[in-house]
Amino acid sequence: IDDFRQKKVLVLGLGKSGYSAALLLQHLGAQVTLNDAQDLTHNKRAQQLVDAGIEIVSGHHDVALFQKHFALMVKNPGIGYDNPMVQQALHLKLPIITEPELAYRVSEAPFICVTGSNGKTTTTTLIQLILDHHRQHGHAYKAGNIGIPVSEVVQQATAQDDIVVETSSFQLLGVQQLKPKIAVLTNIYEAHLDYHKTRANYVKAKMNITKNQTATDYFVVNFDQAEWRQLSQQSQAQIIPFSRTNYTKQGAYQQDGTLYYRGEAIISVAEVALPGPHNIENCLAAIAVAKIMKKSNADIRAVLSTFTGVKHRIQYLTTKQGVKIYNDSKATNIEATKVALNSFTEPTVLIAGGLDRGFQFDELVASMQNVKAIVLYGQTKHLMAAAAQKAHIQTIKIVDNLDQAVVSAWPLCQPGDVLLLSPAAASWDQFQTFEQRGDRFIQDIKDLGD
Ligand code: ADP
Repeated sequence: IDDFRQKKVLVLGLGKSGYSAALLLQHLGAQVTLNDAQDLTHNKRAQQLVDAGIEIVSGHHDVALFQKHFALMVKNPGIGYDNPMVQQALHLKLPIITEPELAYRVSEAPFICVTGSNGKTTTTTLIQLILDHHRQHGHAYKAGNIGIPVSEVVQQATAQDDIVVETSSFQLLGVQQLKPKIAVLTNIYEAHLDYHKTRANYVKAKMNITKNQTATDYFVVNFDQAEWRQLSQQSQAQIIPFSRTNYTKQGAYQQDGTLYYRGEAIISVAEVALPGPHNIENCLAAIAVAKIMKKSNADIRAVLSTFTGVKHRIQYLTTKQGVKIYNDSKATNIEATKVALNSFTEPTVLIAGGLDRGFQFDELVASMQNVKAIVLYGQTKHLMAAAAQKAHIQTIKIVDNLDQAVVSAWPLCQPGDVLLLSPAAASWDQFQTFEQRGDRFIQDIKDLGD
């Protein structure tokens, strides 16, 4: 465990992670300065930090701050490397780390880190639930991008615990010593290229999850992606593959409707509560981790057969008059809605629409085979209606907002159907966040009554 006593540390960017990092450092005896370009004069959290004895410089980035001779910079992952403060730190050869790296250095509990383009939250949640199920000693914590920053968790966690950390590629850029006992790579799709500039940079950031691992650690990796079968060879850890489409002797795989780990049947696909082939991949990754951690098949089954999804992510809500209802408000782009539509074989009534970012929706046409009716609202409603016509969907309704969409969609549903909110667009034309949109949908469904 690193010694931070008397060390001068600059935390760049407040946010949830900067806040916890600053408090953790303060707790460890460091002299903390937090700098944010935004004016934090009336910010509650900033005030709490000041009360704790942390110095705050806000409203501008000031390279003159470096006269304090910091020993370390903890950078918010959202701040790019072209930021002047970061440039100056690089120039001064100051170590720059992100919050999970800091937390790792002071943690007594081992880290299980999950990264990938898609499925991080779901896989992290599944792993945490399984590791916590019928646990004899300690706890399994869930931290990182979801909910509680890992800096906060490490202050309570002991050597008997496990911390399952959802880790973004931005956070992984700051890896220096982080060495997960188990690293999980769900998949990589083209994403975030605006931040990482090139695909090579993005892949390199993801590879940082395994860069410090050794032969006593494990790297759980998606072998359905040929690129990762290759890249995983560079890891020093024990490779545990998972595959939805092929048999893999060393890991977790699907065969004839059953999920296996190294030849042992774990659970049938029919018993898995989460919908869709993408979730089978998430389950396989979770099974691999659970088996490495010596969890029983009964514990794994108990979670996989009951966990119906993280909120707003193809989340099962209820069955009303024989209609299964799902909230996929997190689907803020076409890719995500495709994944949702491919998760169901039932006739589907789809509610979609939202902020217009100039996407064309033709890509959705092929995934609309099971869609019997579509109700559209928001800025994209007419663009999506054009795609729905190409898919020969019989009933296409256009309304003004989500409340009306639910009221219009409900009479179109029959027993055995799926009613799905999967907007294929951001929420910002009518809502603050996708969470708010999903919560409104949940309320609208309740308002339908029994
Ligand atoms: P993340 O935390 O990486 O954003 P989530 O678990 O929150 O991922 O899932 C968000 C959405 O991503 C899901 O609703 C689904 O559309 C898609 N998704 C989830 N898991 C996968 C996967 N393994 N492969 C492809 N898409 C996925």
